[in-house]
Parts: sequence; C-alpha cells; structure tokens
Amino acid sequence: MGIRLLESIVIRTRDFGESDRLVTVYDRFLGKRTGIARGARRIKSPLTGTLQPPHLVRIQAFEKENRDLLHFDRADLIERFDYIRSDFDTLMATLKILTILERYSIEGEPSPAMYDLSVSILRGIESKGHFDALGLAFRLRFLAYSGFYLTLDSCIMCKGKGEGAIAVERGGFICSRCEKHPPIPSETLRLLRGLMVADIDRIARGKPSPLRLKEGFEIMDRALAYFFNKLG
Ligand SMILES: [Zn+2]
Repeated sequence: MGIRLLESIVIRTRDFGESDRLVTVYDRFLGKRTGIARGARRIKSPLTGTLQPPHLVRIQAFEKENRDLLHFDRADLIERFDYIRSDFDTLMATLKILTILERYSIEGEPSPAMYDLSVSILRGIESKGHFDALGLAFRLRFLAYSGFYLTLDSCIMCKGKGEGAIAVERGGFICSRCEKHPPIPSETLRLLRGLMVADIDRIARGKPSPLRLKEGFEIMDRALAYFFNKLG
C-alpha cells in the first residue's frame, strides 16, 4: 500500500464507468501496469490530455495492498508525441507497436531495456523517421528482449552464411546446405540483420524497399505468434 511514482509510456486507454478511464502504461521500473484515472473523461480533468497514447508521462499512483489496479491520481507530461498523433498512418503504425507491448508483455514484469527501446523507437517515429522500418526493428528487438532471440547472422546448425531460410520454430536462419526450405531473398535477410543491430537514428533515416519490409513483417508476425502462443 502506498504512493508510487511512475515514468511510463501510455499504451492504451479505455472508458470505464461514467467518467473514469482505465489506462495501461509501460513503466520503466514496474513494467506493464493498469490504473484507473478517476474523472479522466471529464473535459476539465487535467488527466484528459496527458494520459493519451503514446505520450511519456510521470504519474503519481496509489497502490492498494493485494490489488492489481493502481489509482492514477496525477499525471504530468514528460514528452509529448504530437506529430505521431497528428498523422493517421503514423499513429496507426505506432498503435500497432503499443499493442505488441500491451499484448505480449507480462504484467508487472519490468524491463528498463524494453522501456528504453520503446522510447527511442517513438522518438524516431516522432522525428518523421521511417515508421515501418522502425516498427520492424521494434518487433525484432522486442522478441529478443523477451528471451526469444532469432539468430540471423549465420546458420544455427553449421554457422555458415550464404543462401537459406528463417525457420521461426527452430530459432533462426538455416542455410540451404543444411536443410532445404524455400530461401528468403538475401536483401530481406540483410534488412532484418541490419534492423537488429543498427542505431535507431540510422534506421529512422533509411529507405528500405516496401517489398523487403513486407517480407520482414510476415516473418516477424509469424515469430511473435509462434513464441507467445507457446507461452500459452
Ligand atoms: Zn547450415
């Protein structure tokens, strides 16, 4: 029981009752948590403009013993992402990132590294960076930070390079000498390798081909579904 100070990304809000809102955040030190913001749907509430995805906020929360739900009493903006909220396509791409954070993070299991990754991806998008490239980089790294590292730099069986495929259920790249799978285009593989390790700023300014990105998203969506279904 007590007051907690949060430094969080707002990842989702839902209306609750007559005038309240349920707000899910990703906090640097608490991980994913949900709180009730009393009166947040009233126009004059100071919480209304602040607790909006994907803003970065400092929240004063009250925690009751043995209750999962926090009470968000007060919230101040640390960083607002007005460009993201002003452009429809950019907002949609960002909301998909926040949905991954919400759906696949475990409640109350903090990861400051995941928090920092998410903030730097948001900043890249806010600076009008390439939101698809950043979204794909987020998926790759989210999976790795969650403990499901896809090995991409060399074959998981023989350590060799060259042509091959990504076998999600086996954990990474398998070259064509070890196993016959329909090979992934080498440009797509190179893109994924780059997105895993490159500076976020560099990714934001890059211009990968839409086709390579589409292939990358297909692989990563398959990987997310596979690894998290296994968790149940
Ligand atoms: Zn091999």
